[in-house]
Amino acid sequence: MVQRSSLGTAQRAVFLDRDGTLIKEVEGLRSPDQLEVLPGVAAAIRELNHHGWRTILITNQPVVAKGFCTEADVATVHNKLETLLGREHAFLDRIYWCPHHPHKGFPGERPELKIHCDCRKPKPGMVLQAAEELNLDLRACWFIGDTTTDLETARNTGVRSILVRTGHGGRDGIFKSEPDFTTDNLLDAVRVIVTKTKS
Ligand SMILES: [Zn+2]
Repeated sequence: MVQRSSLGTAQRAVFLDRDGTLIKEVEGLRSPDQLEVLPGVAAAIRELNHHGWRTILITNQPVVAKGFCTEADVATVHNKLETLLGREHAFLDRIYWCPHHPHKGFPGERPELKIHCDCRKPKPGMVLQAAEELNLDLRACWFIGDTTTDLETARNTGVRSILVRTGHGGRDGIFKSEPDFTTDNLLDAVRVIVTKTKS
């Protein structure tokens, strides 16, 4: 990763959910062949890159704890995602992902990953780790996602949120958190951020 600015001053970032926000929602996605970047996503990330926002992927991948795929498979998927985005000159600054899942007792699972971790969204772990590693000012940050889990993660970390109508479109009904804004897709969400933060 290229460090595009000094870490001496607090940075601003946009946290991005993966499935249903950047890429097409596929139940239990485990192979790069299943990966489809949603329309306008590369342009949206390029826009954030251009305006000096750190772009940070934050995703739960319980498929690993469930034994459906390995850490290496997830890395392969993320490599392909970064390659496809890179072809369109769009870059993610960091990728954080949680391999855990709390509920034990299923065939084929990896018991060591079946834990109550601090990183699985809506827990704040991944956002706080990013904040520490990249010197982020969370009050200046945003979280964009398609589920109430993303909105709850934003709430738990004091970050503003935007719900996109792609993927689950907030209809998962798990948490009661409300977004600051709702838009049709990632590109429209990024336009809200760029407009709201123009100085
Ligand atoms: Zn975790």
